[in-house]
Amino acid sequence: MKVAERLRSIPPYVFAQIDKVKEELLKQGKDLVDLGIGDPDQPTPANVIDSMIEAVKNPATHRYPPYEGDKSFREAMAERYAQRFGVQLDPQREVMTLIGSKEGISHLIWAFVGPGDVALVPDPAYPVYYIQTLLAGGEPYPMPLKEENGFVPDLESIPKSVVEKAKIMFVNYPNNPTAAVTDLAFFEKAVAFAKKNDIVLVHDAAYVEMTYDGYVAPSILQVPGAKEVAVECYSLSKPFNMTGWRIGAAVGNSDILYKGLGIVKTNTDSGQFRAIQWAGATALRDHPDSFIAKMNEIYKARRDVMVEGLKKLGFQVKAPLGSFYIWLRVPEGFNSASFTKHLLEKCQIVVVPGTAYGKCGEGFVRIALTVDCDRLEEAIRRMSAV
Ligand SMILES: *Cc1c(COP(=O)(O)O)cnc(C)c1O
Repeated sequence: MKVAERLRSIPPYVFAQIDKVKEELLKQGKDLVDLGIGDPDQPTPANVIDSMIEAVKNPATHRYPPYEGDKSFREAMAERYAQRFGVQLDPQREVMTLIGSKEGISHLIWAFVGPGDVALVPDPAYPVYYIQTLLAGGEPYPMPLKEENGFVPDLESIPKSVVEKAKIMFVNYPNNPTAAVTDLAFFEKAVAFAKKNDIVLVHDAAYVEMTYDGYVAPSILQVPGAKEVAVECYSLSKPFNMTGWRIGAAVGNSDILYKGLGIVKTNTDSGQFRAIQWAGATALRDHPDSFIAKMNEIYKARRDVMVEGLKKLGFQVKAPLGSFYIWLRVPEGFNSASFTKHLLEKCQIVVVPGTAYGKCGEGFVRIALTVDCDRLEEAIRRMSAV
């Protein structure tokens, strides 16, 4: 067997080594505290599950859905944007259902990037931006996210020759993996930059609903004129505990959606199961804010346990205002890989080395708050014992 050349350009799987050690420890009957996975541990809301059960019984959901998405889901998405962000969207033209935002991100790259083209991607970042750009034959240009800049990219420092070849740019706040948040001022800069340089701007808003201590995350579409160049990927996965369902939406610039993304999608997938879209509409319409508030309270309590515990152990760490991660600087004498290994072998704690998200992730590990407070306390206990 010989795989396509494009697969050979894909860097080796960074988690492979950890997975091997993890497997070995589990085989030995070790009790692992797994803070590696960015996947909510709580169930999908009951009203969404009930809505799904009803929808499955209705034969109207059994046939191919429209490729751009079910009308009621797209309307629910537009209603959510109006209510949550004060952003008006035309559900017919400015909303497209996604089979999870990962699908949308990937296909947006295929719609706008080819050989000779550059994609501007944050470093560290969700790996899909970088890898899909390689698969599409394009060139990812990493924009460093530095702590001293609040983990937002310095757009001015991107060389002119790179900007000229750039077709698409990704931003993501609240951020995975750094847990950084940003304000509308950075989005304004990004929109102006994209307009000036004719770049498609994509905001990955996977964590936009997951914020704490009174901080409310903005949509990039709140920037006046953003719709001229930007789309935002909204995901139901993390806020509604629906990662397995595969449902989200791309919203914003109609041409990016219908003359770009939609062309790739019509020729690749045939849309998401209507029953899932109806259930998604229920999540967005039926008391979403009280459910989200309840979840955010759970994550905030976990965050506080972890941050307080880490501080007592001598780590310098600030409580993040968004996402459900802690981006932790490793202690003196360690790097990302060796600290990950240390936690795994000495404490049976699984974290992800920062380098899994890009070169600039060196010196950090990512902790996911996807286990309950007791387990986080156990993790802290184990760390204090070594
Ligand atoms: C989890 C995650 C996604 C994927 O979300 P889906 O809607 O489940 O595909 C996208 N972007 C970031 C930054 C994520 O952390």
